[in-house]
Amino acid sequence: MKDFSRTASSELPTHFGPFRLVHYHSAELEGLALVRGNPTGDGVLCRIHSECMTGEVFGSLRCDCRAQLELAQERLSRASEGVIVYLRQEGRGIGLGNKIRAYALQDQGRDTVQANIELGFEVDERNYELAAAILLDLGITGVRLMTNNPEKLKGLSDAGIKLDEHVPHWAGASTHSEAYLETKRHRMGHITQSPVPGATTTEATVASPVGEAPQSDSSQTDNSQADSA
Ligand SMILES: [Zn+2]
Repeated sequence: MKDFSRTASSELPTHFGPFRLVHYHSAELEGLALVRGNPTGDGVLCRIHSECMTGEVFGSLRCDCRAQLELAQERLSRASEGVIVYLRQEGRGIGLGNKIRAYALQDQGRDTVQANIELGFEVDERNYELAAAILLDLGITGVRLMTNNPEKLKGLSDAGIKLDEHVPHWAGASTHSEAYLETKRHRMGHITQSPVPGATTTEATVASPVGEAPQSDSSQTDNSQADSA
């Protein structure tokens, strides 16, 4: 991809244990890889996560981004190996200012899809080329992708990464985010219970407390996660 390069890499101790943080930039977008262990090749546990300042920094309850990011870190911690690719594309790619504009429209009764269209954007402006380039730079060719978003599965696979498995990623809803999540399900095709055609699927992995010894079986069923979304 155009002007893509790795800037720097360092160790990053976190509440979820040790990670390595690698920074990348391209002509249009900045991205990070939060790497646990030394994953390479196929079958790597992976989340592609887009920046959400309102949720992740300020603790907004309008969405489930922070809970999803923390769940991904917990799952990598438990599996001992994997990667979160973090893309700095706020508000599904429309930018922070426009995302707040969209929130204002939602305060007046529009849903998240209507608000984006009214502001002149596509429902989802994100692209996953940088994510694919980052994975390939790390030597990762196939992923077990933690997501509920079929567009993300397709975007990544179109960009050249093999989808080994689709792993549902339920982080639960708050009273504030229920309507938003319902819109994502009904209007944007986000997955509720059914697997994506062509991909094998496991139930959500049980998130264990940090520090607990990782178990070899990373595909146990956790009904409380599956039911909460
Ligand atoms: Zn969010």
